[in-house]
Amino acid sequence: MARSDRSGDIILSTRNVTKRYGQVEAVRELTLEIRDGEFFTIVGPSGSGKSTLIRMLGGLEAPTTGSVWLRDEDITHVPANRRPTCMVFQSLALFRHRSVGENIEFAQKMRGVPPGERRRHALEMMRIVRLPDSYYNRRIHQCSGGEQQRVALARALASDPTILFFDEPLSAIDYRLRKILEVEMKDLHRRTGKTFVYITHSLEEAMVMSDRISIMRDGNIVQTGTPRDIYSRPGSRFVAQFMGEVNVFEIREGRIASPEADVSAIGRHGYLVLRPEHLRRLDGQDAADVRFEAIVESEYMLGSRLQYHLRAGDASLVAEIPIPAATGVTPGITARWGFDLADATLTED
Ligand code: ADP
Repeated sequence: MARSDRSGDIILSTRNVTKRYGQVEAVRELTLEIRDGEFFTIVGPSGSGKSTLIRMLGGLEAPTTGSVWLRDEDITHVPANRRPTCMVFQSLALFRHRSVGENIEFAQKMRGVPPGERRRHALEMMRIVRLPDSYYNRRIHQCSGGEQQRVALARALASDPTILFFDEPLSAIDYRLRKILEVEMKDLHRRTGKTFVYITHSLEEAMVMSDRISIMRDGNIVQTGTPRDIYSRPGSRFVAQFMGEVNVFEIREGRIASPEADVSAIGRHGYLVLRPEHLRRLDGQDAADVRFEAIVESEYMLGSRLQYHLRAGDASLVAEIPIPAATGVTPGITARWGFDLADATLTED
């Protein structure tokens, strides 16, 4: 509701935060701005510093240097329990021998809220996360993995935090359920209007849910943008490759080595990154900015499309073609392939 008035304002930010553990710099000189009401995801491979960063954002860890801000207030040294934020841990952190209701009401009970009021509030939270009222008395160990996840969310929402932090909440959940919960998380975000800060090593997961994504590498952020920006305009080979199959062509002296193509119009040095769906098989007189011959080495069925692994000289390439357009492409054939420069991204590193 109030969201439209506030959205776009910076709610949480860091300025040059560094966290050292002995010789290890887990986070290095990192500056970040999270907007009020957005679903913001930090993605990076294991060891890139995601957990360290989110712990500093949530007040569970103090930076070695630099500062953390809530709007225009420096909260660097404000402990977690005095921040209007909440860390949603994996469902493992629930009290397994207690009921769903007791778990959700835990914090309110500690604060001395009377039982009737606690119960009403807990049921309201359960409705937000789409848990039936009948689950109120059910023990945690009688709930499925997905239901436990919802209890953990309801418990976090019960304290009405302004910002919710999620540290890989879905990583231990099997693929099918994870896909469902990703959509639920996004819906929940929309329904609550709160700021969600989420970390994951899965860019695929991030893409589904997030308004904006930051990609971390070696303790710093290498790119921030909407899922669409990151997918279509990766700023480096690292980001492009992190997103799955991609073709990388090195440009030297304005030429791409393997296809022998002159691309000096767009750059003399760097890398051209091309998604597999933009590499086309050329028929007869089909035009393309860059053209070359390649042998089809193998074929993989991906559902609605086929993936081909190609070899052009020393280069290994990958193409994906919708099934109706893939007739005649089979392992063993040599064919002409090509792509347009407008579909590729030029990166420096
Ligand atoms: P991620 O969440 O992306 O996997 P982490 O933030 O957990 O990354 O870790 C970043 C780096 O900091 C790693 O090299 C890790 O070993 C190190 N690290 C994290 N926490 C500690 C700690 N408490 N003590 C020592 N080193 C740590």
